[in-house]
Amino acid sequence: MPIDRDTTDREPSTPASPDIEPVAEFGERARRWLKENLPPSTGRYTGVDDEAIWDRARQLQRLLFDGGFAGICFPEEYGGQGLTREHQQAFTTASLPYEMPLVLNVPTLAICAATLLDLGTEQQKQTHLSAVLRGEEILAQFLSEPRGGSDLAGLTTRADRDGEDWVLNGSKIWSSGAYAADYGLCLARTDWEATKHHGLSMFLVPVRAPGVTIQRIRQVTGSTEFCQEFFDDVRLPADAMIGEPGGGWPAARRLLFHERSAMGGTSPYTSGARPHLGADVSSLVDIARSAGRLDDPAVLEQIGEARAMNVVRDQLVDRVSRAIESGGLPPAAGAIVRLFSAENAGLQTDFAVELAGAAVAAEGPGALTSSIGLDYLFRAAWSLAGGSTEMSRNQISEHILGMPREATADQGVPFSQVKHGR
Ligand SMILES: Cc1cc2nc3c(=O)[nH]c(=O)nc-3n(C[C@H](O)[C@H](O)[C@H](O)COP(=O)(O)OP(=O)(O)OC[C@H]3O[C@@H](n4cnc5c(N)ncnc54)[C@H](O)[C@@H]3O)c2cc1C
Repeated sequence: MPIDRDTTDREPSTPASPDIEPVAEFGERARRWLKENLPPSTGRYTGVDDEAIWDRARQLQRLLFDGGFAGICFPEEYGGQGLTREHQQAFTTASLPYEMPLVLNVPTLAICAATLLDLGTEQQKQTHLSAVLRGEEILAQFLSEPRGGSDLAGLTTRADRDGEDWVLNGSKIWSSGAYAADYGLCLARTDWEATKHHGLSMFLVPVRAPGVTIQRIRQVTGSTEFCQEFFDDVRLPADAMIGEPGGGWPAARRLLFHERSAMGGTSPYTSGARPHLGADVSSLVDIARSAGRLDDPAVLEQIGEARAMNVVRDQLVDRVSRAIESGGLPPAAGAIVRLFSAENAGLQTDFAVELAGAAVAAEGPGALTSSIGLDYLFRAAWSLAGGSTEMSRNQISEHILGMPREATADQGVPFSQVKHGR
């Protein structure tokens, strides 16, 4: 998601204690448990369009929970394991051959639950985090609006006080998987006389509350995972607020930090394989083989470059995560990894299309090359999801390189006086 202009985010502390289970023993225990309890992965990316996929994910998450492997970096008091990033990595490595509830990683676990962990009241954490970790709750993000997502703080969805309650009106868009979610973290304007960033508050909105209408959006790939929500006089109790009235921007910054970490691959809260970001090197080899081009030196060079880029990405993820944790880099450095991952995903997909040629458009569903055709159509999304790559470049220039901030016309002006499109 969009602009995050401040640098004061902090990395969630990874818990450590002298009597914590050693990572190697934990990894061994995880391997045994996974072998006995989870079916093998089909290795196919299934998409997230179908309710059955979410039901299956809820079941798998419950299995992990019952086995003591859900929420490895979430605190024990909320149903997690209270372990470290290294334990999570060991579990992820062990889990790669098995079917995992991967659709719950983003945004439910790595973005929304992580934000609730940082900012929720004790009651919100007790209720929602443990429900998420048991596979009973799925969370969505209600941030972007039809008028534009990059200027997030300029949003116009409103929540007005009515007695103790808040009444929500407006619309959000591009919400991944909202149709299958139980709650959405929603940023709304609660004070129109405050300046742009100071009049916002964040709410936990029940997706099936009266007054919420969800429409699914069909993309060029045929997927209907994206949703647009319309809020018509949705009544929210006071305890639906995350943080303080007017504290929505710091809450959004925290959420954006978790989103960049999730998109860049540095989040400690995802479990299992990274999100599907297009072709991988083994599929490039398969495509080259089936196109009869595996002995072409130019093709081998391209495959080598794709492999090298993946190695660099993995090392960058590792280096930046450690630097953020140790304070060597500000949390905004997540933007470096987010940018590299998006550029790399585009590059891998372009290689795949070059190798496969016209087959990407000609072959029917199920063929390896047809999934590459779909990846190609979806290509632009990787540089938008989690905030655009242009905004990542802005982050890097302003918050890491210390270059001057972009000029804005709405600085210090009450939002009611700021000109904005409808
Ligand atoms: C796969 C995917 C999943 C998503 N999931 C969610 C979700 O769950 N919830 C949600 O709320 N949103 C979600 N989004 C929306 C996403 O956050 C927005 O697409 C993104 O923030 C950009 O907003 P926009 O699409 O409105 O583009 P705009 O903000 O209209 O920007 C258009 C173009 O202008 C550029 N631009 C804008 N401002 C500047 C600037 N100041 N400097 C330089 N360039 C600029 C942008 O980089 C972009 O290229 C998702 C998007 C994708 C692709």
